[in-house]
Amino acid sequence: MRTSGLAVKNEKMKKYDLIVVGAGIVGTFHAFHAAKMGKKVLLLEKDNRPVGSTIQNFGQVVPSGLDAYWQKFGIRSLKFFDELQAMSDFTLVKNGSVYIASDEEELNLINEVSELHNHAGYSQEILSKTATKVLFPDINSDYIKGSIIYPEEYSVNSSEFIYKLIDYCEEKLGVEYKNHRAVINIEDQNGEVVVKTADGEVFLAEKAIICSGYVFNLLFPEIYRNSGLIVSKLQMMKTEPLKQFNLKANILTGLTIRRYESFEECPSFANLQTPDHLLALKKWGIHILFKQLPDGSIIVGDSHEYAGVCEVENLGLGVSDYINDLMKNEAELILNIPRKSYTQTWAGYYAQHPDGIFEHKISENIEIRTGIGGKGMTTSAGYTEAKINELFR
Ligand SMILES: Cc1cc2nc3c(=O)[nH]c(=O)nc-3n(C[C@H](O)[C@H](O)[C@H](O)COP(=O)(O)OP(=O)(O)OC[C@H]3O[C@@H](n4cnc5c(N)ncnc54)[C@H](O)[C@@H]3O)c2cc1C
Repeated sequence: MRTSGLAVKNEKMKKYDLIVVGAGIVGTFHAFHAAKMGKKVLLLEKDNRPVGSTIQNFGQVVPSGLDAYWQKFGIRSLKFFDELQAMSDFTLVKNGSVYIASDEEELNLINEVSELHNHAGYSQEILSKTATKVLFPDINSDYIKGSIIYPEEYSVNSSEFIYKLIDYCEEKLGVEYKNHRAVINIEDQNGEVVVKTADGEVFLAEKAIICSGYVFNLLFPEIYRNSGLIVSKLQMMKTEPLKQFNLKANILTGLTIRRYESFEECPSFANLQTPDHLLALKKWGIHILFKQLPDGSIIVGDSHEYAGVCEVENLGLGVSDYINDLMKNEAELILNIPRKSYTQTWAGYYAQHPDGIFEHKISENIEIRTGIGGKGMTTSAGYTEAKINELFR
């Protein structure tokens, strides 16, 4: 426990059951579940509105890609997404996900993963080349060897979802949300958590959870330095609206089959060979995903570069044309997107940890939970439900 002598002067100060630091998807879903339990919750965000990983991402809700442990949280999250979208438009679309195999090895893997998921009771269907082409006529025939489709999965518009969720938490669940509040100190003082912001405000709570994404320098930097956390930089691209395409699902492709954890659990994964033409792509952690937005535009990604907690700045803010060209070349083998239709590109960042997430107790009542990696949109709703149940059981 750190003590910096934060004095709490006003004994009549309001006391919350829970203060959550960081209003990305991990923090906001902690607040959501605690408030649903009837707890008094304060959600503090340093920026005017959250602009971290949660708004930079693809917005594919794909439990199908996760290992068995995280898949359970992903599947549980689908239930919350069903409920939210039934109440109001949270931009969630249950359009399913399809993984398209482009060679025999990938075909093997989708058959093996189908067996694993049958066993786990997760609904999916193997489609032949012909059936895949019928459902997804825009995908180039030469690329398709077969596919596996997961009908229950969602696509979400990440540039809007979190703001709608925060509004819902405030208006319907009674969460107090305060932006422009960079938290710079948290201490346990005689069993009471004291939270201080950069502009000198002090808040009290029974418990606090820190969900600060890839921000490591405002709170407990010494803990992050030795945490094993790293940051991944991903390059993303978006086209202008392309009404000639009708992608009726999250589209994941051969390189994704070669990358996602669910396929790693398959027997033949250990013997997977990388064909020569994929080596350059693998070097930059590229796999090709497509998601079509309601206006017809298509998001295409992504690549992965990595840096340790103390070297995040080395990843830079810029976007490499070379990496984008590698992605466009591979994407062209799958979908005939005209080169000139790419109108936007950006880099997104997320924190990740070898254990799947970094969970660290600072004291009896203060915990860090960050570094959920590339699965936060898929798993946070289910994961945080379990953690809030543990916290207040
Ligand atoms: C390009 C890209 C594509 C992705 N695609 C997918 C996908 O398709 N599916 C999927 O499941 N996941 C995807 N992800 C991963 C997903 O976006 C992340 O796992 C998730 O958003 C992490 O959420 P978070 O709440 O931990 O972090 P963040 O969203 O970064 O939120 C952390 C928040 O904490 C605030 N904060 C930090 N420190 C303080 C402080 N001291 N005081 C107050 N506030 C503070 C920050 O301002 C920020 O708003 C993708 C990520 C990227 C970058």
